[in-house]
Amino acid sequence: LRATDRLDMNTITSPLPFEQSPTALAGPERDVLLKDPGFGRYLTDHMVTIRYSKGAGWHDGKVVARAPLTLDPATMSLHYGQEIFEGLKAYRMPDGGAALFRPDANAARFYKSAERLAMAPLPEALFLESVRALVKADRDWIPEGEGAAMYLRPFMIATEVGFVTKPAAEYLYCVLASPVGSYFSGGPKAVKLWVSETYTRAAPGGTGAAKCAGNYAASYAAQAEGSANGCDQVVFLDAVERRWVEELGGMNVFFVFDDGTLQTPPLSGTILPGVTRDSLITLARGMGLTVREEPYAMDQWQADAKSGRLREAFACGTAAVVTPIGTVTGKQHDFAIGTGAPGELTLRLKGMLTDIQFGRAPDPYGWMD
Ligand code: PMP
Repeated sequence: LRATDRLDMNTITSPLPFEQSPTALAGPERDVLLKDPGFGRYLTDHMVTIRYSKGAGWHDGKVVARAPLTLDPATMSLHYGQEIFEGLKAYRMPDGGAALFRPDANAARFYKSAERLAMAPLPEALFLESVRALVKADRDWIPEGEGAAMYLRPFMIATEVGFVTKPAAEYLYCVLASPVGSYFSGGPKAVKLWVSETYTRAAPGGTGAAKCAGNYAASYAAQAEGSANGCDQVVFLDAVERRWVEELGGMNVFFVFDDGTLQTPPLSGTILPGVTRDSLITLARGMGLTVREEPYAMDQWQADAKSGRLREAFACGTAAVVTPIGTVTGKQHDFAIGTGAPGELTLRLKGMLTDIQFGRAPDPYGWMD
């Protein structure tokens, strides 16, 4: 372990100390919210906080009542953007228990994001302990029903105070939880994509592969352009040639061809390495299908959709799960995918993934934790 990665065993106790929230909602009040949780509309009663300071390492980890943070207005993260986050879900199992989907993958990605933003990397064991502790504390908040789960939001901010532009020496790591239903209101339907030609999301050597706040702020102008053109989501192209399909603002993309093969853009450093993307590649290859991780040109996508060579296209992510792409529009593009109805393989992969996540099928890869 590097010096910055040191777990201070004198101050981090396992399990994390738990302080019951005095304002926790009573069961019946909570159950009203859980009937229609929306996406990220409500937050649970508790949160995890762990502090870092240079010298002392990680310390003071605990599960406490969720409450506002008090920050000096000169806190560095508010000025220079040292913020990273994660998104993962806990599912209610048929036996009434709860399980997380691949939290180790999120722990590893969070570590890499911290390194890219020159922040103190949180030891992966501590990440895992923190998410498990919050699920345990607020397990009654996991909603029931088709597609419903508890979304966990670990994040970290620089808390050192001052205007000097440099990596901070102090950080706050925090985990929040929110009961969620389907990400797209109105249930599963094919999304309309807007091709962003005015804006790009990430450049080579930039932060595209890190899950940092700035990437999302950078995508909103494009998202607004897409909304103004009647679209739901934006598809970003590479920043160098403006030719290759990269990903959506918060989802990876897959293409399904008439020969039964799949393709998804490679992890070139400018797209987020999605846990869902990786899981679907594994599931598809496990079915004996060919999955290429290769660049796909925007013009080729249009040509293949028009010729019928491209049968299906879908977006995927923790929040969106697997969402069919219906139409693609832009200044130079306008086409529909297939008949507009969700594709057969799209639905099959979604079914396989969610059957594992909800404990309805065996877990051959040991993903549930
Ligand atoms: N790309 C971006 C930009 C994202 O924000 C997300 C959501 N984390 C994804 C892809 C999908 O990643 P995952 O499957 O790990 O949720």
